[in-house]
Amino acid sequence: MTTPRILDGNAIATQIKAEVAAEVKELAVQGIRPGLSAVLVGHVPASEIYVRSKVRTCEELGLYSDLITPPDTITTEEMLELVAQLNAREDIDGILIQLPLPKQVNAKLLLEAVSPAKDVDGFHPVNVGRIQSGQPALAPCTPAGMIEMLKRSGIPIAGQNAVVIGRSDIVGKPISILLLQQNATVTICHSKTRDLPSFTRNADILVAAIGRPGYVTPEMVKPGSTILDVGINRITTREDFDKYFAGNTRREETFLLKGSTLVGDVHPEAFKLAGAYTPVPGGVGPLTIAMLMSNTVRAAKLRRGLTL
Ligand code: NDP
Repeated sequence: MTTPRILDGNAIATQIKAEVAAEVKELAVQGIRPGLSAVLVGHVPASEIYVRSKVRTCEELGLYSDLITPPDTITTEEMLELVAQLNAREDIDGILIQLPLPKQVNAKLLLEAVSPAKDVDGFHPVNVGRIQSGQPALAPCTPAGMIEMLKRSGIPIAGQNAVVIGRSDIVGKPISILLLQQNATVTICHSKTRDLPSFTRNADILVAAIGRPGYVTPEMVKPGSTILDVGINRITTREDFDKYFAGNTRREETFLLKGSTLVGDVHPEAFKLAGAYTPVPGGVGPLTIAMLMSNTVRAAKLRRGLTL
């Protein structure tokens, strides 16, 4: 058995960000500076970290960005008013509403109020429909990043059996559509799927977007296949650590230092059978922010009728 290839999300994200920075420079010559507005409601620590890192990346790449931080008492009506203002602003090409939102805010209504032209998360039904029918649109960042990962790593998609575990609107469904557009033969599995391994064992490309630590085990994997592990699960107990990483001294150092470590939806033992796989952390994760930057520039160009 050959050693599986690790698909390095950090390296590919760096490449994409460099390309975005170059595009931003080209647009500057035409007097255009793509801008992203991030809305962060309240004080959810994980959301604060994500949003700050998005804003920082904008600055690094030369995009304009602003951060709006309404209190967690904000109402749906006030949020709708804020979105309407952002929709109307000429200097803003992308609007990002960090989820989760407080309970009293109707998230669905709000996400549909974002102008599809500025919907850089690709969640608006208009973008979902356009992606489905193959029209120019803004695709959700994580799935779009996964396609970039495969393409830039020279992994063929056309004609391959792709099996996606998970059917969420954010990951499972859109990655299935994007893989189909690249001419893969796609099977979507979910919690009601009978005999999941009978599907996954047939996968040349296996996408795990479940949200359950180490759920994909070696007997579910086709040897030599490509595994994209989207799952991000934090483990904090010694028992769990040993279940997934027994004997991994590097991981153990981090675990002991921080008191936790991340595991994907794929058991580390299952990766050993793969031809190539995305590690957790450092695989699919870093591509999400890179694609958000790329989508903001794309939105700026689409909105002005410029060639992509
Ligand atoms: P959701 O909880 O929205 O969806 C999970 C999906 O997994 C559902 O479709 C569910 O099926 C399916 N599922 C659950 N249990 C099983 C099972 N036993 N067998 C088969 N299918 C099952 O999660 P998300 O799609 O939002 O996220 C998935 C994971 O990816 C999470 O760990 C999340 O943290 C991570 N993530 C990572 C990102 C990144 O940037 N790297 C971005 C977004 C998410 P059903 O529909 O039937 O309930």
